This record gives sequence, C-alpha cells and structure tokens, in this order.
Amino acid sequence: MDPLKALADAERKPYWLDSPARPEPRPRLFGHTTADLVVVGGGFSGLWTALMAKERDPSQDVVLLEGRRIGWAASGRNGGFCMATLTHGLANGLERWPDELDRLERMGVENLDEIEATLRRHDIDCSFERTGELNVATEQWQLDALYEHLDLIEELGLDYVPLDRERLRAEIDSPTYLGGLWNRSGCAMLDPARLAWGLREACVRLGVRVHERSPVRSLDDDGTTITLRTPHGSVTGRRVALGTGVFPPLLRRLKHFVVPVYDYALMTEPLSDAQLGEIGWRNRQGVGDAANQFHYYRLTDDNRILWGGYDAVYYNGGLVKPEYEQRDETFVKLAQHFYDTFPQLSDVRFSHRWGGVIDTCSRFSAFYGQAHGGRLAYAVGYTGMGVGATRFGANVMLDLLAGERTERTELRMVREKPMPFPPEPVRSGVIQFTRWSIAKADEQQGRRNLWLRTLDRMGLGFDS
Ligand SMILES: Cc1cc2nc3c(=O)[nH]c(=O)nc-3n(C[C@H](O)[C@H](O)[C@H](O)COP(=O)(O)OP(=O)(O)OC[C@H]3O[C@@H](n4cnc5c(N)ncnc54)[C@H](O)[C@@H]3O)c2cc1C
Repeated sequence: MDPLKALADAERKPYWLDSPARPEPRPRLFGHTTADLVVVGGGFSGLWTALMAKERDPSQDVVLLEGRRIGWAASGRNGGFCMATLTHGLANGLERWPDELDRLERMGVENLDEIEATLRRHDIDCSFERTGELNVATEQWQLDALYEHLDLIEELGLDYVPLDRERLRAEIDSPTYLGGLWNRSGCAMLDPARLAWGLREACVRLGVRVHERSPVRSLDDDGTTITLRTPHGSVTGRRVALGTGVFPPLLRRLKHFVVPVYDYALMTEPLSDAQLGEIGWRNRQGVGDAANQFHYYRLTDDNRILWGGYDAVYYNGGLVKPEYEQRDETFVKLAQHFYDTFPQLSDVRFSHRWGGVIDTCSRFSAFYGQAHGGRLAYAVGYTGMGVGATRFGANVMLDLLAGERTERTELRMVREKPMPFPPEPVRSGVIQFTRWSIAKADEQQGRRNLWLRTLDRMGLGFDS
C-alpha cells in the first residue's frame, strides 16, 4: 500500500497512552510539606525509586513529584522491550567494561527477574511476556557482526541461539532476513504505559504521596535538607532522587552529558489471524535488526505490530519541544520499510504515529552520581534502553543515598562518568556529522569512516 494512504487515518499520539486504562491524575502539590525522600520525575526511573524506597523501609515518608502526567514521556511511549542488559547491549558492555561484563550480565538478568517478580507481587498487569529478542541481519556484514561474539556468549553462559536463514524464517517470515540471533530469556515485551500506571498504583498503596502536574522549578539546599518548589507548593526533604530523564536538569552539570534525541514509531491496526499466519511469529519475540540505523518491532496483545526506530533525530540547539514528536518524513520512511520487510502485509494500515525523546549520553548507558553533600542522587542517560535498566538505576540511587557500599556502587560502570558533549553550536555540528557517517556506514556494508573510527577509539558515540 502507498505509505501516505496507509498513514492517512493514523492518530498523531502514542498508542500506549491512548487507552481507557489511563488513570486520572493524582492531585497537584499544594502548600508546604516535608519528607524523608523526595523523588522528582514520574517515569520508570522515579517510579521504581519511590516503590523500592518504600519496600526497603516502609516507615520512610516518600513524596514523588511529576511535572506533567505519570508516564507521559519516554516511559509511556516506548517500544516496550524490557531488556536485561544494563550496558545497551553486549557489544557496548564489552567495549567499555570488559573486566566486569560477567557481573553486569548477571546483575542485568537478576534485575529482569526481579521486575517480573515485582509485577506478580503488586499484581501489575502490563502484558509482560518473556519472549526474548531476535536480532536479525538483512545484510552479510550485519550477520558477521551478530556472530562475532558467539564464543563470549557461550563463555558467559547466555541463553542465545543462532538461527540460520531457514530457522529464522520459520520463526518470522521476512524475505529480507539472512539469519539472526535469538536472545531467549534476556528480554520481555510489555505495555509500557500500563507498567507506569501500575507502578504508580503500587507506590500509592505503599503510602508514597504522588503529585502530578507539579513541576519542580527550583532546588535549595540549606546544608541539612533540600527544599523543592513547584508552582503551588514546596517540599523539604532529607534526601532527593532525580529521575528527570532528558528534561532541563535541576542539576546544571548534567546538561553537559545528555542530549535529546527523537525516536519515532508506528502502530498498525490489529492483524487478522490470516495476516499473522502469513508471517508466523508464534513465539512473539521482540525483533531488532542489526544495522546501525536499526528498526525495532513487536506484537501487542491484540496482535498489532509496533514498528519503530531507524531515524534518530537531534534537532540543532538541543531543545525538547512538543512539535518534534511528529515527523512525517520519518513516518513515511518507516511505513515503506515495514512493507519492504513484510510484503505479505501490504494491505495493513497504521492506527498511530508518534515520537518521543531519548536521553542520549556518549557511552549509551546510564550514569549515576551524587551532589549536595550526598543528599541528592541522580541516574540518567539510558539512551533508548531504560525500560528495564531504570530499575537497576533506581537501586543505585537508593544505595548512594543510604551511603551503602554495595556490589552495584562498586562497579566501574557506576563510578565512572561518560565523556561530556561539546557545547553548542559545536555540539550540533558534531552530532549531525556523526549521524551522516552512521547512515553512510549502513550504505557501505558497515564500513566506518575515519570520523567514526576516531570516535570509537575515544570511546565516544551517538545512538538512540
Ligand atoms: C520512541 C521510544 C522508544 C523507546 N523504546 C525503548 C524500548 O523498547 N526499550 C527500552 O528499554 N527503552 C526504550 N526507550 C527508552 C525508555 O523509554 C527510557 O529509557 C525510559 O523510559 C527512561 O525513563 P525515565 O524515567 O528516566 O525518563 P522519562 O520517562 O522521560 O521520565 C522523566 C520524567 O521526569 C519528569 N520531570 C522532568 N523534570 C521535572 C521537574 N523539574 N519536575 C517534575 N518532573 C520532572 C518528566 O515530566 C518525565 O515524566 C524508548 C524511548 C522512546 C522515546
């Protein structure tokens, strides 16, 4: 089908948030209050922090402040791939922290297991399906890259299965596939908005005071406590945790390390049994292709296909703006790629199109730290892979605020910071040239130009 026609009736909003299950907002913060812990941000990062603070010590008084609505930002509009990896994939972990990779992989799987256990414990229904993820190659150089680390995968005892073309096409039938690698237990598919809303309800049940539409405008430290002010109220806390993602940070230093990158997605209408039968997909894995500009796609519980990725757009100046959430040029490209991958589905239309902003840092995985004499902790920079990893980051923040040395806080990954981005306007120039080079590498069998090779050597990069 012509992509323009297929998109004609697609709603311009995130599919997951466009749901009758979306709860009414919690009340704004009015007046002054105090708390043991104030959490800023009502995405996964803040929600996990508040929930686990209460689980660690139910007597703690915890307040969570969200500027808009719980889960409205990246957390409620993502692909819903809940990955075990804490390092934005095995290759990035190997590149940066080879000495602690076995521990990072183990802790990542534990984190995913604990997410699954939390959902059961708090009765959170977010269509969690531990299907694993299939990485697929559509060109030979991608296949070589996928199989490059098979020895290491075996050494680490990871549950990955290489699939040749026939076996892969028996799983999911696309004529574009050459082969793939199925990470069988290190990833679950879920409905991210229902996860955010479920975490909110669990927080409230445990006694967290959750305030929505309460943006924190300032933060004042008197040497013992920190006071956070919103338009109609204030809260003085002994400890503060920031889970504010890519938004203008309350801690100035963070703006050097994180840039906003826009990622876009489409949702199809539900597939009929016959349409789904054309492509198989009985094991319902999440799928990602192995290009630098990659697509990710998955089934929903009513058998729609979410189809996203490819373009990762940095708008010069690095602002976060609602108008950047729609990009027709990208939607048309994504629709065309969908039909190229699944020509059997040429009559399928799209019901939703949307974009969202990612907190990209130069090492592609979150970094952590403290400020204000240890009274404030932050975790940010998940770079498009925070659905699972934010829970790990929340645990790091709670360890740091408690002044506890744990296996987590001792990790080099936790103690080290990424390289900062240069200031604007150099930042825009560097990022746009890097994006161009990445697109070129995909066109030239993965060959990286001098610029990308230099960045690789410096441990720097750009990703979504
Ligand atoms: C299109 C898209 C697809 C993605 N797909 C995946 C995927 O499949 N798998 C995966 O692992 N990751 C994915 N991601 C990334 C993932 O969604 C994020 O890593 C994760 O949601 C980050 O959670 P967070 O809580 O840190 O940030 P956010 O969800 O951005 O939440 C931050 C919150 O802080 C609030 N806030 C900020 N400043 C203030 C303030 N001053 N006062 C009060 N509140 C404030 C904001 O309003 C916001 O609600 C995707 C992201 C996008 C955009």
